[in-house]
Amino acid sequence: MQASLNTPTVADALGVIADAYPGELAEGWDAYGLMCGDPAAPALRILLAVDPVPAVVAQAAAGSYNMIVTHHPLFLSGVTSVAADTVAGRTVHDLIRAGIALANAHTNADNAFPGVSDALAAALGVHDCVPLSPLSDPKTGLGRIGSLAEPMSLGDFANRVAADLPGTAHGVRVAGDASHRVVRVAVCGGSGDSLLSAATAAGADVYVTSDLKHHRIQDHVLAGGCAVIDVSHWASEWPWLEDLARVLRAGLPGATVDVSRIVTDPWTAHLRSMP
Ligand SMILES: [Zn+2]
Repeated sequence: MQASLNTPTVADALGVIADAYPGELAEGWDAYGLMCGDPAAPALRILLAVDPVPAVVAQAAAGSYNMIVTHHPLFLSGVTSVAADTVAGRTVHDLIRAGIALANAHTNADNAFPGVSDALAAALGVHDCVPLSPLSDPKTGLGRIGSLAEPMSLGDFANRVAADLPGTAHGVRVAGDASHRVVRVAVCGGSGDSLLSAATAAGADVYVTSDLKHHRIQDHVLAGGCAVIDVSHWASEWPWLEDLARVLRAGLPGATVDVSRIVTDPWTAHLRSMP
Protein backbone atom coordinates (compact mmCIF):
# COMPACT_ATOMS: atom_id res chain seq x y z
CA MET A 1 0.00 0.00 0.00
CA GLN A 2 1.40 3.38 -0.99
CA ALA A 3 0.88 6.39 1.25
CA SER A 4 -1.38 9.17 -0.06
CA LEU A 5 -0.59 12.84 0.50
CA ASN A 6 -2.64 12.99 3.68
CA THR A 7 -1.64 9.64 5.08
CA PRO A 8 1.04 9.81 7.77
CA THR A 9 4.11 7.84 6.77
CA VAL A 10 6.76 6.00 8.73
CA ALA A 11 9.09 8.93 7.86
CA ASP A 12 6.56 11.37 9.34
CA ALA A 13 6.42 9.33 12.54
CA LEU A 14 10.24 9.24 12.69
CA GLY A 15 10.29 13.03 12.34
CA VAL A 16 7.86 13.48 15.23
CA ILE A 17 9.91 11.10 17.39
CA ALA A 18 13.18 12.87 16.50
CA ASP A 19 11.70 16.26 17.45
CA ALA A 20 10.71 15.01 20.92
CA TYR A 21 13.70 12.69 21.45
CA PRO A 22 16.64 14.09 19.45
CA GLY A 23 19.23 11.58 18.35
CA GLU A 24 22.00 13.87 19.67
CA LEU A 25 20.82 12.94 23.17
CA ALA A 26 21.50 9.21 22.66
CA GLU A 27 24.51 7.58 24.29
CA GLY A 28 27.32 6.63 21.90
CA TRP A 29 26.79 2.88 22.37
CA ASP A 30 23.07 3.01 21.72
CA ALA A 31 20.87 2.16 18.73
CA TYR A 32 17.74 4.13 17.89
CA GLY A 33 15.56 5.13 14.94
CA LEU A 34 14.19 2.92 12.16
CA MET A 35 15.25 -0.72 12.64
CA CYS A 36 13.07 -2.28 9.96
CA GLY A 37 10.61 -0.96 7.38
CA ASP A 38 10.16 1.52 4.53
CA PRO A 39 10.15 5.23 5.44
CA ALA A 40 7.64 5.83 2.61
CA ALA A 41 5.13 3.28 3.93
CA PRO A 42 1.97 4.46 5.70
CA ALA A 43 1.86 4.73 9.48
CA LEU A 44 -1.88 4.93 10.10
CA ARG A 45 -1.91 2.48 13.00
CA ILE A 46 1.00 2.61 15.44
CA LEU A 47 1.53 0.30 18.42
CA LEU A 48 3.84 1.29 21.28
CA ALA A 49 5.69 -1.13 23.57
CA VAL A 50 8.79 -1.31 25.75
CA ASP A 51 10.28 -4.40 24.05
CA PRO A 52 10.27 -5.56 20.39
CA VAL A 53 9.53 -9.16 21.39
CA PRO A 54 7.55 -11.72 19.32
CA ALA A 55 4.37 -11.28 21.40
CA VAL A 56 4.30 -7.57 20.57
CA VAL A 57 4.93 -8.22 16.85
CA ALA A 58 2.10 -10.79 16.90
CA GLN A 59 -0.21 -8.28 18.57
CA ALA A 60 0.67 -5.68 15.91
CA ALA A 61 0.10 -8.14 13.07
CA ALA A 62 -3.25 -9.29 14.50
CA GLY A 63 -4.32 -5.66 14.97
CA SER A 64 -3.29 -4.55 11.45
CA TYR A 65 -0.76 -2.02 12.73
CA ASN A 66 1.67 -0.48 10.20
CA MET A 67 4.33 0.46 12.70
CA ILE A 68 5.68 -0.49 16.12
CA VAL A 69 7.64 1.99 18.21
CA THR A 70 9.52 0.51 21.18
CA HIS A 71 11.89 1.81 23.83
CA HIS A 72 14.46 -0.96 23.54
CA PRO A 73 16.26 -1.59 20.22
CA LEU A 74 15.91 -4.90 18.33
CA PHE A 75 19.65 -4.79 17.56
CA LEU A 76 22.20 -3.09 19.80
CA SER A 77 25.44 -4.28 18.23
CA GLY A 78 26.45 -5.02 14.65
CA VAL A 79 24.90 -8.02 12.93
CA THR A 80 26.05 -9.88 9.85
CA SER A 81 22.84 -11.82 9.26
CA VAL A 82 19.10 -11.44 9.74
CA ALA A 83 18.43 -15.10 8.92
CA ALA A 84 15.37 -16.44 10.73
CA ASP A 85 17.50 -18.72 12.94
CA THR A 86 17.71 -16.16 15.78
CA VAL A 87 14.84 -14.48 17.60
CA ALA A 88 15.82 -11.05 16.26
CA GLY A 89 16.28 -12.38 12.72
CA ARG A 90 12.91 -14.11 12.82
CA THR A 91 11.40 -10.90 14.15
CA VAL A 92 12.71 -9.04 11.07
CA HIS A 93 11.05 -11.66 8.83
CA ASP A 94 7.79 -11.48 10.75
CA LEU A 95 7.77 -7.67 10.55
CA ILE A 96 8.42 -7.59 6.80
CA ARG A 97 5.87 -10.35 6.13
CA ALA A 98 3.23 -8.37 8.03
CA GLY A 99 4.22 -5.03 6.49
CA ILE A 100 5.10 -3.51 9.86
CA ALA A 101 7.89 -0.96 10.39
CA LEU A 102 9.84 -1.01 13.67
CA ALA A 103 11.49 2.03 15.22
CA ASN A 104 12.71 2.83 18.72
CA ALA A 105 13.78 5.71 20.96
CA HIS A 106 16.11 4.48 23.73
CA THR A 107 18.69 6.63 25.55
CA ASN A 108 17.59 9.62 23.46
CA ALA A 109 14.22 9.22 25.26
CA ASP A 110 15.96 8.60 28.62
CA ASN A 111 17.95 11.85 28.36
CA ALA A 112 15.25 14.04 26.79
CA PHE A 113 13.01 16.46 28.66
CA PRO A 114 10.35 15.30 29.18
CA GLY A 115 11.71 11.78 28.97
CA VAL A 116 11.35 8.27 30.36
CA SER A 117 12.18 9.20 33.97
CA ASP A 118 9.83 12.22 33.90
CA ALA A 119 6.98 9.84 33.06
CA LEU A 120 8.02 7.50 35.89
CA ALA A 121 8.21 10.43 38.34
CA ALA A 122 4.79 11.71 37.27
CA ALA A 123 3.26 8.24 37.68
CA LEU A 124 4.54 8.17 41.28
CA GLY A 125 3.37 11.71 42.19
CA VAL A 126 6.90 13.19 42.17
CA HIS A 127 6.91 16.86 41.10
CA ASP A 128 9.39 19.63 40.18
CA CYS A 129 11.99 17.23 38.85
CA VAL A 130 15.52 17.96 37.70
CA PRO A 131 17.98 15.43 36.23
CA LEU A 132 20.17 13.43 38.60
CA SER A 133 22.95 13.46 36.02
CA PRO A 134 22.41 16.56 33.83
CA LEU A 135 23.80 17.06 30.33
CA SER A 136 24.99 20.45 29.02
CA ASP A 137 21.32 21.52 28.74
CA PRO A 138 20.51 21.18 32.45
CA LYS A 139 16.92 20.06 31.79
CA THR A 140 18.18 16.95 30.00
CA GLY A 141 20.08 13.95 31.32
CA LEU A 142 19.61 10.68 33.16
CA GLY A 143 17.38 10.12 36.19
CA ARG A 144 15.24 12.69 37.97
CA ILE A 145 14.85 13.98 41.52
CA GLY A 146 11.80 15.85 42.78
CA SER A 147 9.36 16.03 45.70
CA LEU A 148 6.13 14.43 46.83
CA ALA A 149 3.23 16.81 47.53
CA GLU A 150 3.12 15.48 51.12
CA PRO A 151 5.72 13.58 53.14
CA MET A 152 4.85 9.94 53.76
CA SER A 153 6.48 6.86 55.24
CA LEU A 154 8.69 4.66 53.06
CA GLY A 155 6.16 1.86 53.60
CA ASP A 156 3.27 3.98 52.34
CA PHE A 157 5.32 5.23 49.40
CA ALA A 158 6.28 1.66 48.45
CA ASN A 159 2.58 0.75 48.47
CA ARG A 160 1.95 3.71 46.18
CA VAL A 161 4.70 2.53 43.80
CA ALA A 162 3.13 -0.94 43.71
CA ALA A 163 -0.32 0.53 43.05
CA ASP A 164 0.68 3.16 40.47
CA LEU A 165 2.95 1.08 38.21
CA PRO A 166 1.51 -1.72 36.05
CA GLY A 167 1.45 -5.06 37.83
CA THR A 168 4.22 -7.59 37.22
CA ALA A 169 5.37 -10.87 38.75
CA HIS A 170 8.61 -9.06 39.65
CA GLY A 171 6.76 -6.78 42.05
CA VAL A 172 8.35 -4.12 44.24
CA ARG A 173 11.32 -4.64 46.60
CA VAL A 174 12.31 -2.20 49.32
CA ALA A 175 15.68 -1.63 51.04
CA GLY A 176 15.06 0.62 54.04
CA ASP A 177 13.04 1.14 57.21
CA ALA A 178 9.30 1.24 56.43
CA SER A 179 8.81 4.11 58.93
CA HIS A 180 11.52 6.27 57.28
CA ARG A 181 10.07 9.68 56.19
CA VAL A 182 10.06 10.24 52.44
CA VAL A 183 9.61 13.55 50.62
CA ARG A 184 12.53 13.83 48.16
CA VAL A 185 12.32 11.03 45.59
CA ALA A 186 14.87 10.12 42.91
CA VAL A 187 13.86 7.90 40.00
CA CYS A 188 15.51 6.35 36.96
CA GLY A 189 13.55 4.30 34.42
CA GLY A 190 15.39 1.11 33.46
CA SER A 191 18.77 0.07 34.87
CA GLY A 192 19.71 2.86 37.26
CA ASP A 193 22.34 1.44 39.58
CA SER A 194 24.98 3.84 38.19
CA LEU A 195 23.05 6.71 39.81
CA LEU A 196 22.81 5.26 43.36
CA SER A 197 25.48 7.64 44.72
CA ALA A 198 24.07 10.58 42.76
CA ALA A 199 20.63 9.96 44.31
CA THR A 200 22.07 10.06 47.83
CA ALA A 201 24.27 13.09 47.04
CA ALA A 202 21.23 14.95 45.63
CA GLY A 203 19.41 14.51 48.93
CA ALA A 204 16.97 11.78 47.93
CA ASP A 205 15.12 10.01 50.76
CA VAL A 206 14.44 7.12 48.39
CA TYR A 207 15.58 6.08 44.91
CA VAL A 208 13.26 4.11 42.61
CA THR A 209 14.89 2.18 39.76
CA SER A 210 15.44 -1.38 38.47
CA ASP A 211 18.01 -4.13 37.77
CA LEU A 212 19.70 -3.84 41.16
CA LYS A 213 22.20 -6.39 42.49
CA HIS A 214 22.94 -7.70 45.98
CA HIS A 215 26.42 -6.23 46.55
CA ARG A 216 25.64 -2.84 45.08
CA ILE A 217 22.63 -2.37 47.34
CA GLN A 218 24.31 -3.88 50.41
CA ASP A 219 27.30 -1.52 50.04
CA HIS A 220 24.98 1.43 49.37
CA VAL A 221 22.86 0.78 52.46
CA LEU A 222 25.86 0.09 54.73
CA ALA A 223 27.47 3.34 53.57
CA GLY A 224 24.40 5.29 54.73
CA GLY A 225 22.86 5.73 51.27
CA CYS A 226 19.20 6.60 50.68
CA ALA A 227 16.45 3.98 50.81
CA VAL A 228 16.00 2.06 47.54
CA ILE A 229 12.92 0.68 45.79
CA ASP A 230 13.57 -1.90 43.07
CA VAL A 231 10.82 -2.28 40.49
CA SER A 232 10.46 -4.25 37.27
CA HIS A 233 12.56 -2.78 34.45
CA TRP A 234 9.55 -3.03 32.12
CA ALA A 235 7.18 -1.38 34.63
CA SER A 236 9.60 1.50 35.23
CA GLU A 237 9.65 2.39 31.54
CA TRP A 238 6.06 1.60 30.61
CA PRO A 239 4.57 4.94 31.86
CA TRP A 240 6.64 6.74 29.19
CA LEU A 241 4.64 5.00 26.45
CA GLU A 242 1.61 7.17 27.27
CA ASP A 243 3.81 10.28 26.83
CA LEU A 244 5.06 8.92 23.51
CA ALA A 245 1.45 8.22 22.48
CA ARG A 246 0.49 11.84 23.19
CA VAL A 247 3.50 13.09 21.20
CA LEU A 248 2.62 10.91 18.19
CA ARG A 249 -1.11 11.70 18.29
CA ALA A 250 -0.36 15.44 18.36
CA GLY A 251 2.20 15.20 15.54
CA LEU A 252 0.31 12.75 13.33
CA PRO A 253 -3.36 13.75 13.19
CA GLY A 254 -5.29 10.89 11.62
CA ALA A 255 -3.01 8.17 12.97
CA THR A 256 -4.28 5.72 15.58
CA VAL A 257 -1.72 5.25 18.34
CA ASP A 258 -2.19 2.51 20.95
CA VAL A 259 -0.07 1.38 23.89
CA SER A 260 0.45 -2.38 24.21
CA ARG A 261 -0.51 -3.73 27.62
CA ILE A 262 1.37 -7.01 27.15
CA VAL A 263 3.73 -7.47 30.10
CA THR A 264 7.10 -8.12 28.44
CA ASP A 265 9.00 -8.40 31.72
CA PRO A 266 10.88 -11.71 31.56
CA TRP A 267 10.02 -12.65 35.18
CA THR A 268 6.86 -14.76 35.31
CA ALA A 269 6.49 -15.62 39.01
CA HIS A 270 7.69 -14.30 42.37
CA LEU A 271 7.23 -16.44 45.48
CA ARG A 272 7.49 -14.58 48.75
CA SER A 273 9.20 -16.07 51.80
CA MET A 274 9.41 -13.53 54.60
CA PRO A 275 12.01 -14.18 57.34
ZN1 LIG B 1 15.24 -0.18 29.54
